[in-house]
Amino acid sequence: MSDQRLRRAQQVMAAQGVDALLLGPSADLRYLVGYHALPLERLTLLVLPVAGEPVLLVPELEVARAQDSGAGDHVELAAWSEIQDPIALVVERLQRAGAQRGKLAVQDRLWTAFTLGLQAALPAAAWLPGSQVMRELRLRKTPEEIAALHAAGAAIDAVHAAVPELLRPGRTEQQVGRDLAERILDDHDEVNFVIVASGPNGASPHHETGPRRIEAGDAVVIDIGGTRQGYCSDMTRNYAVGHVPEGYAALHRLLERAQQSAVEAVTPGSSAEAVDAAARSIIAAAGHGAHFVHRTGHGIGIEEHEEPWIVEGNPLELEPGMAFSVEPGIYLPGRYGARIEDIVVVTPDGVARCNHRPRELVVCT
Ligand code: ZN
Ligand code: ZN
Ligand code: ZN
Repeated sequence: MSDQRLRRAQQVMAAQGVDALLLGPSADLRYLVGYHALPLERLTLLVLPVAGEPVLLVPELEVARAQDSGAGDHVELAAWSEIQDPIALVVERLQRAGAQRGKLAVQDRLWTAFTLGLQAALPAAAWLPGSQVMRELRLRKTPEEIAALHAAGAAIDAVHAAVPELLRPGRTEQQVGRDLAERILDDHDEVNFVIVASGPNGASPHHETGPRRIEAGDAVVIDIGGTRQGYCSDMTRNYAVGHVPEGYAALHRLLERAQQSAVEAVTPGSSAEAVDAAARSIIAAAGHGAHFVHRTGHGIGIEEHEEPWIVEGNPLELEPGMAFSVEPGIYLPGRYGARIEDIVVVTPDGVARCNHRPRELVVCT
């Protein structure tokens, strides 16, 4: 699997005229060699020349972890000791590959301290973001990756199914959040985030689950996600506790229509921005354009947020295998908010959802 991915990366690099790819601890590194490296002050770096053998430079004390990950099956592991200069070792490897004056693609989230060190040591090189190479690999999911996203979707569906047992007046957001986190772990390996946004807190899309006590008549936005066998789930539904607050039922129906219309706009040959427009135009026509304060969606895979961005201004043509969220929201400051989120995958003839729970407002009594 990973050998295939490394070869594919080299093909993309060749097509783009990139001489070497440099990846620090990141989802990109995990994707290529399966190693979950720790983001330390000590440098871990994969050096992948466009032709020739890759090497993974690892701090000596991390070698056992790197070996346990199986990364050594795909790349040479080279340990550097506490008294060596890892930047000098990278330069040496690039010189061996004849890439020290070439085009170097460096991982987008490599720490500045390392990137500046590399740039100072390689003054003749040209630099570009590593995502230019990696997006070509990660943007279209393989059948195995799509199956993993569907399984993660089913796992988070099951957690949402349990929400009505957990939401009761008098409980705090944090209490509900802890229960949800535990249930996420029933069929995920990690909890990535738990948003329980009750009453007016629902008007903040990334509200931090807090001490607020849930009251009867609250609308509650619940957005949860985890990682299952390396792939992420991410799903939002809205609940009302006791009874539905005034005006919320109509707002929610509007949102259901917007989300449905955006999902229906997903098909090969359509564009990322057309999906955004499908949801946004409905919300704007109802006078809530200013209350939909974020893009319609984000790609998902081994990371919660990755390309493609489903946003106005992104003309990216949708292709089979692309996977992303469709999550329009409406937020009325001081009152409440609502967001409906499903993960979808572009199929050869349209779209498939990874989440199947009903999208209607659920009243918990
Ligand atoms: Zn988000
Ligand atoms: Zn979400
Ligand atoms: Zn999301």
